[in-house]
Amino acid sequence: MKFVEGKHVVYSFAPDMQAVLTVDDGDIVVFGSNDCFFQQVQSNNDVLDRIDHERLNPATGPVFVKGAKPGDLLKVDIMAIDVLVDQGVTAVVAGEGSVKDEVEHNIVRVIPIVDGAAEYLGLRIPLKPMIGVIGVAPSDADGPCPTNTPYKHGGNMDTHDIRKGSTLYLPVRQEGALFALGDCHAIMGDGEACFTGLEVPAQVTVRLSVVKDTVSNWPILETETETMIIASAPTLEEATQKSVSQAVGALAKVLNCMWEEAYILASLVVDVRISQVVDPLMTVRAVVPKTIATTEQILNALK
Ligand code: CA
Ligand code: ZN
Repeated sequence: MKFVEGKHVVYSFAPDMQAVLTVDDGDIVVFGSNDCFFQQVQSNNDVLDRIDHERLNPATGPVFVKGAKPGDLLKVDIMAIDVLVDQGVTAVVAGEGSVKDEVEHNIVRVIPIVDGAAEYLGLRIPLKPMIGVIGVAPSDADGPCPTNTPYKHGGNMDTHDIRKGSTLYLPVRQEGALFALGDCHAIMGDGEACFTGLEVPAQVTVRLSVVKDTVSNWPILETETETMIIASAPTLEEATQKSVSQAVGALAKVLNCMWEEAYILASLVVDVRISQVVDPLMTVRAVVPKTIATTEQILNALK
């Protein structure tokens, strides 16, 4: 098992990032991830406009994976997301979030975590830890991508299905993939309505392996029951178009049918879910049930 300490961070997924660790195909790596504020916010009195904004959204890494080449996928098995702190941070900032114009007070709420649940407003809300920022070096044409934005390389996708037990497939665009992650949320709903999840540092354990010669436009996530195409774009409509387009193309190949027939099938069985609406690009996922096509079939359709 190999470790990357949380002090090794990048603030941009750049095509030419310098790796801090090299691992073999199939290695298990533990990442010390920082929260999106780099732990600068510790109490309700910590005012967001007084923290160092150069240190927002750090991603731990990057890690060079031997054998990963442009045109492959990096397979990331998420084995554990251990939240080792006893509080998380949330915030409301005027001009940010899905209801940005109604915010009158910029507030921070540090929320205690007790026995696996967040205690807030008299409620106990069970933790469902997830990874907000996770990605690889983008293509020369797409990069550099600041860590606050999602795109084809992954990045700030803020998708709560990126959790323990899920497997993320990221399009490799540079030699070694150059993988990094950060910005874990102990809890977050679809949309990330107010602009933050329950922001926490965490210890994240993943297995990194290479799927050869499989080209995807967008990250693909496998959960126990579903396969998701995660796309990001300036509007929800465009993000929907991109994720559904890739899903329909894959279904047409898997089922060996007309594109239009696959489009009809998508209308019947594919869910379009909002991941987040608060980052520089909007993120949507097209969700294909495994009862219709397995993740392996969808990946094989990309070969
Ligand atoms: Ca985020
Ligand atoms: Zn976050």
